Amino acid sequence: MRLRDLPSVDGVLQSPAAQRWIEEYGRPLALQAVRQQLETTRLAIQTGADDMQQADIHEGVKALLLAWSSPSLRRVINATGVILHTNLGRAPISGAAQKAVQEVAAEYGTLEYDLGEGRRGKREAHCDQSLRLLTGAEASLVVNNNAAAVLLALTALAKDRQVLISRTQLIEIGGGFRIPDVLKQSGARLVEVGTTNRTHRRDFESALDQDTALILRAHHSNFKIIGFTTEPSLEELVDIAARGNIPVVDDLGSGALLDTAEFGLGHEFTVQESLAAGAALVCFSGDKLLGGPQAGIILGRRALLDKLRAHPLARALRPDKMCLAALGATLIHYLRDQAAEQIPVWQMIGAPENGIRARAARWKHSLGSGEVIASRSTVGGGSLPEETLPTWAVALRSDHPDRMAAELRRADPPVITRIADDRLLLDPRTVLPDQEADLLRAMAEVI
Ligand SMILES: *Cc1c(COP(=O)(O)O)cnc(C)c1O
Repeated sequence: MRLRDLPSVDGVLQSPAAQRWIEEYGRPLALQAVRQQLETTRLAIQTGADDMQQADIHEGVKALLLAWSSPSLRRVINATGVILHTNLGRAPISGAAQKAVQEVAAEYGTLEYDLGEGRRGKREAHCDQSLRLLTGAEASLVVNNNAAAVLLALTALAKDRQVLISRTQLIEIGGGFRIPDVLKQSGARLVEVGTTNRTHRRDFESALDQDTALILRAHHSNFKIIGFTTEPSLEELVDIAARGNIPVVDDLGSGALLDTAEFGLGHEFTVQESLAAGAALVCFSGDKLLGGPQAGIILGRRALLDKLRAHPLARALRPDKMCLAALGATLIHYLRDQAAEQIPVWQMIGAPENGIRARAARWKHSLGSGEVIASRSTVGGGSLPEETLPTWAVALRSDHPDRMAAELRRADPPVITRIADDRLLLDPRTVLPDQEADLLRAMAEVI
């Protein structure tokens, strides 16, 4: 096709195929797709393509319409063995949490309605009782995510004043969340205490003055400092802060309510332990080790939480009804002592090794290729840095494992895998039981 043979927009729109596009996708979208495809084809011809056909234009328009009318956020099968995979949406929520979301999303609900009184109620009420029962905290506040929780706490309590933090904790957790930047945004002044590897009690004591609003402690999240290192314990920080009559805010990051040591992992300092040690406020995510929806949870002293609640930022950072529904249902699993059985993240962390090995063996058998090898799963999500769990994976040898991985990403639903030592690995730990059939079908096609 030469440039002058390129059809007009109207010309394409009058073809029988275009009538079907208009019926299926509506005229405005079909028109945009035709315009864009003709522009693409014109550029291709101008830059030397001489084999363009009428059919290529039609195929191009169809592909555009299909892509534009499919949601870009899709479910995937996570066969990487990384349990809290931030890029893949962190925690899958429990069946009960899904049901709670579905109900309030599809219908009206008691989001801000008091059924007893028949009038306006409080959005904050929905998770408050569960959170207090579970942790012994005086009060709670739920916001959009943990970054928002930290920002709100610092803004409401330390604007134009000083915040002390150990240099060992000036972290960036990825996705642009850097403690120094959040401090700057809050209007608080950062006072770095100690050195990169060692911060002592006396460093905090000498930094504390009239202008200090609070001491911030931040979980290291995704790294570990090893070797010649030290930093004051939370109890010590609380003790130092008490002398200045100021609070300690503890950004726990992941915020475990269960003891990770009971699952063969290192012990992750729990929310309950932080409160018991005297943190005035504790912040953590809803979708990391808690295993719920994206949310930021703040627990602690009532007087401080009232200040946070009254700050205008709190309104801007408030959670929506679907978040509160999922979080509420997730917390009930903990209250009933069924978290390990009902919450997918804990099911995956606690999955027995022999069960994983049996699943991997079944997959290998069904695929008729690969081998079952010992490997490691990762918790991820900025919790338990460097901590892994022993697992069993199906390993597939290939000259081009990256091509195989790319093909699997094109499956429906896409399958996300890991490559190690030129082999493609499938870790059953993070594949939900309902996803197995889809996974094996996609694999069979690729093999
Ligand atoms: C993950 C994390 C955050 C951010 O939490 P989001 O819920 O992703 O906003 C903040 N602080 C620490 C220490 C974290 O690990």
